[in-house]
Amino acid sequence: MTIPLVDLKAQYDTIRPAIDAAIRRVIDNSAYIMGQEVAAFEQAFAAYCGVKHAVGVSSGTAAIFLTLLGYDIGPGDEVITTPFTFFATGEAISQVGARPVFVDIDPVTYNLDPNRIEAAITPRTRAIMPVHLFGQPAAMDAINAIAERHGLLVIEDAAQAHGSRYKGRRAGSLGSAACFSFYPSKNLGCYGDGGAVVTDDDRLAARVRSLRDHGRTNKYEHAELGYGHRLDGIQAAILAAKLPHLDDWNAARRRLADRYTALLADTPLVTPRHLPETEPVYHCYVVRAPQRDALLGALQKAGIGVGVHYPIPLHLQPAYRFLELEPGSFPVAEQAAREVLTLPLYAEMTEAQQDQVVAAIKTALRELNLL
Ligand SMILES: *Cc1c(COP(=O)(O)O)cnc(C)c1O
Repeated sequence: MTIPLVDLKAQYDTIRPAIDAAIRRVIDNSAYIMGQEVAAFEQAFAAYCGVKHAVGVSSGTAAIFLTLLGYDIGPGDEVITTPFTFFATGEAISQVGARPVFVDIDPVTYNLDPNRIEAAITPRTRAIMPVHLFGQPAAMDAINAIAERHGLLVIEDAAQAHGSRYKGRRAGSLGSAACFSFYPSKNLGCYGDGGAVVTDDDRLAARVRSLRDHGRTNKYEHAELGYGHRLDGIQAAILAAKLPHLDDWNAARRRLADRYTALLADTPLVTPRHLPETEPVYHCYVVRAPQRDALLGALQKAGIGVGVHYPIPLHLQPAYRFLELEPGSFPVAEQAAREVLTLPLYAEMTEAQQDQVVAAIKTALRELNLL
């Protein structure tokens, strides 16, 4: 039996009546773009994150893009971030005309290494954008202290971290503003594209609200050139129906992650570790593997839906050739890119499925003479 990396249908099967009713309600009310459904979800999500405002937008990438625009970050500015992330983190920084300045990661958490940040700060630096990779919050106390010393904004890329906590506080409440994605496979995902900007900053929230909707101040007046980056009603209604389940889903992911770690303890795989001050939500369960590509191939052949997040760090992407960053620029990220392997994980995964993944891993490791 094959086991997928994620199983969105399995989640839908557990909440089908609520989702179907939510979609029908939007169609019955013809409230397709913004409107009451979006406002209701925004309120619920802001409360969940422990912040004043959530602004629904069309994707996680749009959330980052609009947040940077909302802070007037653009040409001539630099934003410090990690090279070991999904491409959109850097892409959105570049889309506003700013320059992503990469800083290497911590080899244990895969997050931005705070000890390397200050060396990358220049007079052009405006913000630090930590990514809470795989659902583990970055070292936010250290990052916020550096930002405060240098008068910088801290913008969380929380696209993989819905519900995770740092010293008890939720991702989304840990910096100046935070950007979430509701891409279907995220811990909180809609049935299409969606995202949100969350913040306590009244001015930023108002600006992003306007920018996402053509720079509107009211129905007919446009204060500035904006964008069509709205969240639609069906997605908001689905998200509102799913949000009450998020903590249970994240708890199930943590339980399964801990079980993987116990079951893999007698293998050469390096299992994830989290900082004691974080409560991660395991958007991905990522191990480091010797002979990663051979193991990846063997598991794929065995019908196990494994992945690699991420095989190419941003500074080595063809699109970023113009930054002129050579291989070797960020050795910790580059080594991670060669070694990481993502195992199947989703809240509805059964222990029997997990046992099958572990058995396939051990068989493959034996065949490679690694066990
Ligand atoms: C998914 C993701 C994004 C982009 O979100 P989209 O909704 O796909 O635009 C940005 N950053 C990270 C770290 C992500 O995982």
